[in-house]
Amino acid sequence: MSRFFSKELCELEPYTPGEQPGNTGELIKLNTNENPYGPSPKVKDVVTSSEIEKLMLYPDPEAGVLVSAIADFYGIEKDMVMVGNGSDEVLAFSFLAFQSREKKIYFPEISYGFYPVFEKVFRTSGVGIPLDEDLRIDPKEYENLDGTILIANPNAPTGIALGLSEIEKILETNHDNLVIIDEAYVDFGAESSVRLTDKYDNLLVVQTFSKSRSLAGSRLGFAVGNRELIADLNTVKYSFNPYNIDRLTILAGAASISDREYFEKTRKKVIDTREWTKGELEKLGFTVLPSSTNFIFAESDMISGEEYFNALRENNIIVRHFDVDRIRNYVRITIGTDDQMKRFADVTAEIINRK
Ligand SMILES: *Cc1c(COP(=O)(O)O)cnc(C)c1O
Repeated sequence: MSRFFSKELCELEPYTPGEQPGNTGELIKLNTNENPYGPSPKVKDVVTSSEIEKLMLYPDPEAGVLVSAIADFYGIEKDMVMVGNGSDEVLAFSFLAFQSREKKIYFPEISYGFYPVFEKVFRTSGVGIPLDEDLRIDPKEYENLDGTILIANPNAPTGIALGLSEIEKILETNHDNLVIIDEAYVDFGAESSVRLTDKYDNLLVVQTFSKSRSLAGSRLGFAVGNRELIADLNTVKYSFNPYNIDRLTILAGAASISDREYFEKTRKKVIDTREWTKGELEKLGFTVLPSSTNFIFAESDMISGEEYFNALRENNIIVRHFDVDRIRNYVRITIGTDDQMKRFADVTAEIINRK
């Protein structure tokens, strides 16, 4: 740390991204919840060499064609949508726009690792709410609070989703609190709260193109909410980085969200492979939490989470292990292709049979 680093940030512990090995040749990479199927083929049609030549020009700061395509997909007005450089940026803008030093922000104690990092970097007061004994979010714990509420639905890394009626109860009992629902994985089996944004002016829904739309490398996320909330996010964006989405990503994102057929096909495929993988692990004696995402969270009393993680690694399969209380015995496994998951299941069987 240099002697110039802000004293207020000197205890900041940055987010640790999952490993991104340079050469994935023989590796089966099931550690960062990327989609094994590439982006919609329509993306290739719009990212052309003539568009690359236009990279000397700044992009449209409103990302008009992209915002319109997202609004069309959900059948909402354009002024209910704002886009960010990954949903991480959308979340960061939300902290900047809606939090202050004294204002609390409540989120599940076990959830996306970025939330407590944002809490510190934006110097606000985070409060972790414990999961129940089944590692579920207990919606009752979120009723009638006195600060912002931030919930990943489905939650990560557990994969478990809340239903819309449970979210609605939280919204109704928190009239004067903003409720942010991070729907990074919603397309793999949960219900989106987007359709509640008309009814509740305290709801902000955040989504990403990184998972169900296979564009993690493009960095694209968005928020949907009542127009005043969206205007506030834009005030922050235009005070920070007005050209936050590059020219090619604007085109890629619009092409991707317009291709409903490819989206339906690939997300169903991931869901089917997930259920197959869950069944294989259960046959081997694993406990697998009910997942509404493109990953599963599994544990076995025959092997510790860390040992299982290392044994998979030795077989060139990378998953994610969190050295965190209550979930130390679990590993999180991203759903890959059928071939990858077949290999994963075979290797797991070998590891367990050796015990
Ligand atoms: C992956 C993920 C994000 C971040 O997505 P990006 O759009 O790639 O920044 C946000 N929230 C959760 C819960 C995630 O798992």
